Amino acid sequence: MSMVQESGCRPIQPNNARIEEHPCYSEGASHRYARMHLPVAPACNMQCRYCNRKFDCSNESRPGVVSGVLNPDQAVKRAWEARQRLPHLRVIGFAGPGDPLANRERVFATCKPLRSSFPDWHLCLSTNGLCLPESVNAILDHGIQHVTITLNALDPEVGAAIYSWIFWNKKRRRGVEAAHILLEQQLAGLSALIARGVLVKINSVLIPGVNDRQIPEINRLVSEAGVFSHNIMPLISAPEHGTYYGVMGIPGPNEAQLQQVRSQCGGAAKLMTHCRQCRADAVGLLEQDRQAELNRSPVEDSRVIPIHRPTRRDPVANPPSPVVLAVASQSGERVDTHFGHAAFFRIYRVTGAQIEHLGERFVPRYCQGDDQCEDKDHTLKAVLNLLNDCQGVICARIGFVPWQELLERGIEPVNSHADRPVLEALSHTARLLQDKHAIPTPKVAAAGMKGRG
Ligand code: SF4
Repeated sequence: MSMVQESGCRPIQPNNARIEEHPCYSEGASHRYARMHLPVAPACNMQCRYCNRKFDCSNESRPGVVSGVLNPDQAVKRAWEARQRLPHLRVIGFAGPGDPLANRERVFATCKPLRSSFPDWHLCLSTNGLCLPESVNAILDHGIQHVTITLNALDPEVGAAIYSWIFWNKKRRRGVEAAHILLEQQLAGLSALIARGVLVKINSVLIPGVNDRQIPEINRLVSEAGVFSHNIMPLISAPEHGTYYGVMGIPGPNEAQLQQVRSQCGGAAKLMTHCRQCRADAVGLLEQDRQAELNRSPVEDSRVIPIHRPTRRDPVANPPSPVVLAVASQSGERVDTHFGHAAFFRIYRVTGAQIEHLGERFVPRYCQGDDQCEDKDHTLKAVLNLLNDCQGVICARIGFVPWQELLERGIEPVNSHADRPVLEALSHTARLLQDKHAIPTPKVAAAGMKGRG
């Protein structure tokens, strides 16, 4: 039996404005019509291992990244402003930085005034699908006619390798159980949407060695279900993004790998190949994003997420303050030790160009050789307590769990200087941290930088 229930799907009209004016549903439209993502959804109900939601980054261009989160009033105001500047604006999308359906009230409160003021605009939403079945009525009631579901695996064993956890029925679920629940929700939601005439697009993140074989299967299944298009996106993976795959050094696919998987997809669903993997606050044409220019108006939502733009330090007005850094280095010359393998950390104080070696701090060995290091909470806590006064920890490699724990304590993990000289790594990291924190805006100084949904 097919995993997707009978949909009774309606055929899609080729001359439909819903397609011809939506840059993600028609490549032709992508050159003519603009879209705007309104970042009103900070929270997420699961953790994908390729995702790290960043709320303060104006440089990175990838899903989940925004310069700031808006409340519904601010979002509507921003849409009005964009209307003046972008006469070809046709699509308002909700794509994060968390999951729109984990933030339903905020999303739907934004839709209402937009729907009545701009009936010619298309409203659009992207979701992981976990809360989709129970949201279908509200999606339709609010005039949302385009929904994208991210579907990365049909086999729960594979799903368990992609998702760290989901939050379901007030509990955190992990592993195969979590992947199984997620899949059931995604497929039930998919069927319900198609049955009611919504245009559904599927996104799949290609993670080489993890779900390459799943994607042609997904393509077949969603084509049979009647989705409009299937967007196979390459994993974006770099250590500085702070995602599990980035930190663990698992790379995204190269062009040949991407093309190979696409060529194995022979289903009826159109393959989308013009996706730009946009930020959750993207604005403008797909090929000419104007978020940096158009999102500049001061519409901070102080109750949710502070917007922080790092400010360059003025060396005269603000002499460099000392930065205390821990380095995992056996030799003392080079950054040569994995965080979890370190028996001690070398502690330094860096003040401008001056570097003082303060001594060594001995720690219990957190990891005995495996790469995951996920279940050794007690030892990790002891290590972190010993490093609590440091602003950064420099090491050759680090697991995802300690990376996150360090960040949560406000300590910057740095693994981009592996095998480089210790002194060079210290100077570079100290400069980075001074630039980042030298002149925090009063709001950030008061609220701190705990920017998670
Ligand atoms: S569902 Fe989206 S926002 Fe949530 S963790 Fe996954 S990619 Fe990030």
